[in-house]
Amino acid sequence: MSIQVTSVCKTYNTQKALSEISFSADKGQVIGFLGPNGAGKSTLMKILTGFIKPDTGTVFVDEIDVLQNPLKAQKSIGYLPEHNPLYSDMYVREYLQFQASIFKVAKSEIEGCIEKVGLTLEAHKKINQLSKGYQQRVGLAAAILHNPKVLILDEPTTGLDPNQLVEVRALIKELGKEKTVLFSTHIMQEVEAICDRVIIIKKGTVLIDKTLAELQKNYQQIIKVIFNDKIIASQFHQLELIVSSKDLGKNTWELTFENEEDMRPKLFDFAQKNNLKVLELSLENKTLESLFTELTSR
Ligand code: ADP
Repeated sequence: MSIQVTSVCKTYNTQKALSEISFSADKGQVIGFLGPNGAGKSTLMKILTGFIKPDTGTVFVDEIDVLQNPLKAQKSIGYLPEHNPLYSDMYVREYLQFQASIFKVAKSEIEGCIEKVGLTLEAHKKINQLSKGYQQRVGLAAAILHNPKVLILDEPTTGLDPNQLVEVRALIKELGKEKTVLFSTHIMQEVEAICDRVIIIKKGTVLIDKTLAELQKNYQQIIKVIFNDKIIASQFHQLELIVSSKDLGKNTWELTFENEEDMRPKLFDFAQKNNLKVLELSLENKTLESLFTELTSR
């Protein structure tokens, strides 16, 4: 097991941040750690990386007890904190050399990391001359210098413009091919773009812990259809897996199905059977985004 968190609780003074959090992650998984602001994501990441201690509970990373052996565990962890503290007056290569010396990593590893995160053309520049997206790459390069098995990334894409977002997401996905990655975000599309698994937390507890495929099975399919003639709602009972039908007027209906299979062909068959013609048809899926909003606003 790459990550094993068991019954972790953390309170700051009187503010409860984590309440009995438990989850585990297998090797090679990319996990989206999702939750609204203040849910406890950063707190859990700081505990996982050994920077703060929980009040109770246990945390193992790469089979190492983080609470007992934080320094040993940190050898297996690459961490990109939320406000990535780069020395902005340093040159990229110089900064990475400095980081390598801290982790006692051979200098020969640096160029490989620069290449891996796509910094080759920027490595001679000062960090403060780089865009936010490239500064995040410097943080990612520093996090992978010592070739850790587990990467913990706290909101790695916050503040990036749309192009940088796509690039940094692709980079995280690439890194996830050889490492276990836990990254926090409050953007659901990000999870859909990168992750195998989603953990949604709210107020310090786990609301959902599922693979992306499992979550996508919960999609509802909404089809808006216009028929050439009148129909009565009870006729829709002939359709399997229909959840609801809403009359929008002028022979237009909004039909909701609890199904992942595309129901449009079935709707054409249904129309034919009922001597109707389909004039227009559009499909809308209830996305993970709306599921997340629903869950976290309850
Ligand atoms: P997230 O990363 O999901 O936004 P955090 O882990 O930062 O959430 O915060 C969880 C809760 O703990 C919030 O209510 C936050 O205000 C509180 N908190 C976080 N850090 C501290 C701190 N150092 N002192 C007091 N309260 C804190």
